[in-house]
Amino acid sequence: MRVGEKTHHLLSDYLTERKSWLVDVSRIEELKRVIVNEMKMDFDISKTRDYTTYNKDHTFWLSEHYYGEQVDDRLDEVIAKVLHNFDVFLASEWHEKVQHYFTFAKTVFVEQPRQKNFHGMRVDLRSIPVLRDLNIMAAPDFGVVFSDDKYLIIDWKTGQEKLESDDITDQLKVYALKTLMKTKRPLEELTIETYEVYLPSLRHVGGYITQSHIDAIIQKLEDDMNYQKQFLVDQDIVRNEPLPHTNFPRTLSEKKCATCTFRKVCEDLKKFE
Ligand code: SF4
Repeated sequence: MRVGEKTHHLLSDYLTERKSWLVDVSRIEELKRVIVNEMKMDFDISKTRDYTTYNKDHTFWLSEHYYGEQVDDRLDEVIAKVLHNFDVFLASEWHEKVQHYFTFAKTVFVEQPRQKNFHGMRVDLRSIPVLRDLNIMAAPDFGVVFSDDKYLIIDWKTGQEKLESDDITDQLKVYALKTLMKTKRPLEELTIETYEVYLPSLRHVGGYITQSHIDAIIQKLEDDMNYQKQFLVDQDIVRNEPLPHTNFPRTLSEKKCATCTFRKVCEDLKKFE
């Protein structure tokens, strides 16, 4: 039910204002009311939407409503999760830190998830010959430029925590690569620190970027690209080889299937396999 998306909107709304001025308690409550009203309105639109026709102006929908499930009783719980994520952030040392950055850093970037800037999201890979034709979009939630050679990147997370990883994730490596490409300088001249911060647990993973992280993500992107290329017909990027369904094994995780947008299609397809 879009807990992550709505948490990101609320955080971004708050941080965008806090970047320019002090936001008092009554304004914080107002921002919360706005997101609660939005969630209720979105939910109603999703619930009453006609799913038998396509309307490009209807951009919000929940798979639960598409599948005709009765989920009215879950809305309050979902709203409470979003507000709790935000409250936990406000009471955390990360809140203290970002306020400090707003005051003392050279530049602070707050992602605007409500207005996607696809041009700004693009990672410029033209200086890496093996990746020069690859198009990657990446926009971290929060970035700090302390000076021309010192950077901090933070991504807020609300989904399932990667319990096994205390290292730099691939997503963080891509953000670091994007920063590196923008500076057009070698990593040895820079310090890039990067974290994923989970809400509401406040657990974080990440650290300082090293050349081996950069080399690893370049290699991973190249490997992934080459893997995809094998399905192209005559190396034409529009014509793809259809693959047998056995190339896409189903997950054994019932938890993943319960919220998967394709769960009905997936079930129906079993009859033809
Ligand atoms: S329902 Fe979704 S997650 Fe589950 S096996 Fe099918 S496609 Fe995968």
